[in-house]
Amino acid sequence: MRFSCLLCQCEYFEEAAPFLCTSCFDRLELARPHSEITSLFRYNEASRKLILLVKIEGNYRALSCLCHLFLNSAQVGELSQRNQVIVPAPSSLWSRMRGRFDLAWLLSAALARQTQCKLQRAPLHLYWQTKKRSKLGEREGVEIPSRCEGKLPDTNTLIVDDVVSSGHTLRRTALALKNTRPNYLTLASALAD
Ligand SMILES: [Zn+2]
Repeated sequence: MRFSCLLCQCEYFEEAAPFLCTSCFDRLELARPHSEITSLFRYNEASRKLILLVKIEGNYRALSCLCHLFLNSAQVGELSQRNQVIVPAPSSLWSRMRGRFDLAWLLSAALARQTQCKLQRAPLHLYWQTKKRSKLGEREGVEIPSRCEGKLPDTNTLIVDDVVSSGHTLRRTALALKNTRPNYLTLASALAD
């Protein structure tokens, strides 16, 4: 059976990942290791296009492809074993109004289904961010908490987002959680090297 590739639209018989040909799969670059945040891919042209297909166009084949890559990653498997709770980073109101699929939520829900982790929504007030993050002009570095205030942490929480660009959303989500040791996982990283 023939499929057309999500990125180059070529027809092929064998897929390197669902709906992705081998040469387009090879265009996905692995993210550089980061001390605090685990990311699968670098936010390059190929990963950006796949992510936008999901978020802007609601493309279900692109969602299947990204979920497959995410759930089958050894890094993701290893991280989910060390955490009891998964919290998706909240999308801004701006992106919810324009977007179709909430990718951070869908990746988190798929991972929780596959593991023993509990899926938990971030505190509601974090969802009332109305402006697009990149328009806020925030330029801080990635200083994210490794422990949340309160009593000694009794759980490890994995905070999941689709793309990390400044670390601000991850930091804000972690600060709103109490009594937990946060870990950070994103599908793609746009952090400078
Ligand atoms: Zn292709």
